[in-house]
Amino acid sequence: MSNLTERDKKVIWHPFTQQKDMLPPVPVSRGEGALLFDEEGNDYIDAISSWWVNLHGHAHPYIAKKIYEQAKKLEHIIFAGFTHEPAVELAERLLKILPVNFEKIFYSDNGSTSTEVAVKMALQYWWNQQTTNNKQTRNKILAFNNSYHGDTFGAMSVSDRSVFTMAFQDKLFEVIFIDTPTAENIQQLTSVIRQHSSQIAAFVYEPLVQGAGGMKMYDAVLLNTLLKQCKEDDIICIADEVMTGFGRTGKLFASEYCDICPDIICLSKGLTGGTMALGVTACTSKIYNAFVSADKLKTFYHGHSFTANPIACTAAIASIDLIEKENSLSKIKWIEVENRKFINELQLLEQKAHIKNTRQTGTIIAFEITDGKDEYLNTISSIITQKSMALGVYLRPLGNTVYIMPPYCITETQLNKVYEVIIDLL
Ligand SMILES: *Cc1c(COP(=O)(O)O)cnc(C)c1O
Repeated sequence: MSNLTERDKKVIWHPFTQQKDMLPPVPVSRGEGALLFDEEGNDYIDAISSWWVNLHGHAHPYIAKKIYEQAKKLEHIIFAGFTHEPAVELAERLLKILPVNFEKIFYSDNGSTSTEVAVKMALQYWWNQQTTNNKQTRNKILAFNNSYHGDTFGAMSVSDRSVFTMAFQDKLFEVIFIDTPTAENIQQLTSVIRQHSSQIAAFVYEPLVQGAGGMKMYDAVLLNTLLKQCKEDDIICIADEVMTGFGRTGKLFASEYCDICPDIICLSKGLTGGTMALGVTACTSKIYNAFVSADKLKTFYHGHSFTANPIACTAAIASIDLIEKENSLSKIKWIEVENRKFINELQLLEQKAHIKNTRQTGTIIAFEITDGKDEYLNTISSIITQKSMALGVYLRPLGNTVYIMPPYCITETQLNKVYEVIIDLL
């Protein structure tokens, strides 16, 4: 065990990890492109973009330079009563690339806060309506089974009741959960929405891919049908694109696969290219206008000490620069094509290799190992991580769900190595 690992063991509590018998964490000294280097100089291909945040590679010199320059100018300032160039420029840039006419950007700190803000906006939208028109307040949220929207209490409430939330079950607010759409259940789902519509304030969903719930994928046309029903019933649509945003599904935003646009969109993870923690909740004028009032009670009383941190905003602007400069969309297309070839290969192996449900959306590939139960607690995950690390590739399955989600800077040789290691493991 290296010295750092021993020091870590004395003072650190790691996220999403049972600390008893935890494998010693790998001390990483630096990163470059898709590679991570440990203290002994071994390298690992980061095949899951460090929990889905990294787009352009680790320690990207362009983002690093921009962060350094901003840090020397203005590191942080209270964002009530003040503004600054990085916050305004980032909002302008985002509004240009987002799929619809969003009008306002609300900043927070991470993915969980971005969805927390969205849910609060939607609930208060209806609350604000009520006090003017005396209309019945809608106070229920509609969400998908198997969803994940973060770890704060509101975000947990609208997430699937799972091993992640079990200890807090009775503290979570009530939500109407429906399955993700299939050709078989779509009629039933739209009728559930119609039936409860007078109570439903908002529908929150991860478009096309449910990430932490096990990289479950569903059809864009069927999602569009649900969104259409929601629009008809005046339900606010909240697209949680914290994971799917910035190209993961093949388009810049997964919402672009649907005709019906959400009213609110949540971004984080890839927003800063994976360098700084930052959350964005963008909304349309319809939502924003419901808060603009002479009545102080209609104010959105939400904010964080580090709202719109200038260094984080600068990192996000730099990342958007790189998406354009480094032609990320064509790299995404290339990864998509390579993935499809690999998926075909995997599908031929399904029976022999004890895998099932081989699937792909854009740059993401996933499948289940048929060993043990289909659940997050399946211990095959840590076995696969250990074995793949020994072969120079970092994978971190969600239970028995193995997936890859590479940074867009991954080279052809590196991507092929990831595929080879997966085949080797199987
Ligand atoms: C990761 C994730 C979140 C939570 O983001 P954090 O930054 O980890 O708080 C929310 N929604 C989705 C879809 C995610 O994948």
